[in-house]
Amino acid sequence: FIYLLNSNITLGKNGVPVAENFRLEQSTIADTVQVGQVRVKTLYLSVDPYMRCRMNEDTGSDYLRPWQLSEVADGGGIGVVEESQHHNLAKGDFVTSFTWPWQTAAILDGDSLQKLEPQLVNGRLSYFLGAAGITGLTALLGIREKGHVAMGANQTMVVSGAAGACGSLAGQIGRLEGCSRVVGIAGTDEKCSILVQEMGFDAAINYKKGDVAKQLRELCPGGVDVYFDNVGGDISDTVISQMNQNSHIILCGQISQYNKDVPYPPPLPPDTEKIQKERNITRERFLVLNYMDKQEASVLQLCQWIQEGKLKVRETVVEGLANIGAAFQSMMNGGNIGKQIVSISK
Ligand code: NAP
Repeated sequence: FIYLLNSNITLGKNGVPVAENFRLEQSTIADTVQVGQVRVKTLYLSVDPYMRCRMNEDTGSDYLRPWQLSEVADGGGIGVVEESQHHNLAKGDFVTSFTWPWQTAAILDGDSLQKLEPQLVNGRLSYFLGAAGITGLTALLGIREKGHVAMGANQTMVVSGAAGACGSLAGQIGRLEGCSRVVGIAGTDEKCSILVQEMGFDAAINYKKGDVAKQLRELCPGGVDVYFDNVGGDISDTVISQMNQNSHIILCGQISQYNKDVPYPPPLPPDTEKIQKERNITRERFLVLNYMDKQEASVLQLCQWIQEGKLKVRETVVEGLANIGAAFQSMMNGGNIGKQIVSISK
């Protein structure tokens, strides 16, 4: 028997996802593995903010397919090959895919899988779903493609969603790429102190406490040159109001708007848009999937930084397929520090 997780409802564009949107079922997989296929055991699954869009009938993006009712949900995953009929994969190989079914075991098309080299991440396989995977690539390529960060240019970077998977890496990479000052914005005091004490941020602001605009003015006396935006909404309006002439927004994500029926990217309120135009602040859509030609070299760079201890990695791990819906709900509500991972089997 295997367990699989079905999407239980179509949430609609306005609505908050909860664990009960998913249903666990027991089932079986085929006994035989056909030529070109492999049988895998699932080790780790990823839950990510973009999955909220997959709960709508219209995801709003041509690259995202909606999850269908009663269909097994899928997303980033890692597993080990237990039986192979694929010419390039052998028993014991570790493999990953962006469309891994939320099942404890599966028969997959071998061509849809990428082989992983555990030694690149000191054996921490789950990093391939985070710091050495899509979230690390998003932070690195977002900064390189849209940040205009330059060594010695004395730039100040602000990161929102700073203690999350992308944000915690973005601040550190901003520093490695040349920013002289890095300030994070996150939702708890614990997150803020980890950013400063472990991740080398100069300062961090708890946006749920106190006056964000005032703290930001004090912490960024020279204004903001680069804004790595994971959240949108009021936080971003406040940061943009303190951005310098000819500065740059890395439009990574807008999680504060994902439960609302608004287009992506959500338009800025008129006052903020006026500032953006007057100060010539760039705000171009960034999608990591558009830069996959740079994936291999960028993953190697991320792994090198991890091995050298220059990139500190945090994960929040929940155990068991039965808890993946709860892990998704928790991540969407700030329950994670670093990458939210679901560990399925050892
Ligand atoms: P994450 O940051 O690890 O987790 C989501 C975090 O968002 C939560 O921990 C929570 O932290 C914060 N949050 C939730 N609701 C919020 C609100 N209303 N206001 C402010 N913060 C809120 O997730 P991630 O995977 O790294 O994704 C971060 C962003 O990057 C998302 O917007 C995602 O869509 C985007 N992304 C974009 C690309 C791309 O190609 N452009 C690729 C991957 C991810 P707090 O405790 O701080 O509230």
